[in-house]
Amino acid sequence: MNIILLGAPGAGKGTQATKIADKYALPHISTGDIFRENIKNQTEIGLLAKSFIDKGQLVPDEVTCKIVEERISRADCKDGYMLDGFPRTIAQAEALEKITKIDLVINIDVDFSLLMERLCGRRVCKDCGESYHVSRLNGTTTCARCGGELYQRKDDNPETVQSRLDVYNAQTAPLIAYYTEKGNIFNVISDTRPPEAVFEKIVEKLDTLRK
Ligand code: AMP
Repeated sequence: MNIILLGAPGAGKGTQATKIADKYALPHISTGDIFRENIKNQTEIGLLAKSFIDKGQLVPDEVTCKIVEERISRADCKDGYMLDGFPRTIAQAEALEKITKIDLVINIDVDFSLLMERLCGRRVCKDCGESYHVSRLNGTTTCARCGGELYQRKDDNPETVQSRLDVYNAQTAPLIAYYTEKGNIFNVISDTRPPEAVFEKIVEKLDTLRK
């Protein structure tokens, strides 16, 4: 099954994506993670991506689409995959449509007023990518899942988060209507529910589709 996870920054896409990928043995493709890996390795793509990511802007469609096209053409994606953070523009969705068929778009809906606080307090594991909120860490600096070191993403600061939210509203939110029209979107609300309850809803939907 080919799945897209949509949602504003901080909606919990990464957390759900990891759980879905584990349960259904799907490759988890996060364009944000691919860019961060390229930045770490100081590749040409990394250098280019950094200049946009640091400002809270989107990396140009052309570059992003090429990366995704190459990634989903690999053998491990032949029985399905899960895209986390792609597409983020209508142009990306149209490019994707030309190369593959999408079975389900999961949209994680969240109250916007929660996101600034969530993102600025987010700490992420360097090794497995698990996210935490600083208010619940009680000073712990290591990951409860794998023991890796926790860090704060450079783009999780108030100024950059504001531009990421503005970019989401202007360029990514229109995808909800785009996929609603196509009839394969599943909306799930994450506001007050714990991630486990959101995951349960997603599993219910995926299990029905797989039957
Ligand atoms: P994320 O880890 O999904 O929050 O992504 C971090 C940053 O990477 C975003 O703020 C963008 O600058 C960039 N990025 C990730 N995915 C995309 C995409 N599909 N299109 C353009 N830029 C992206």
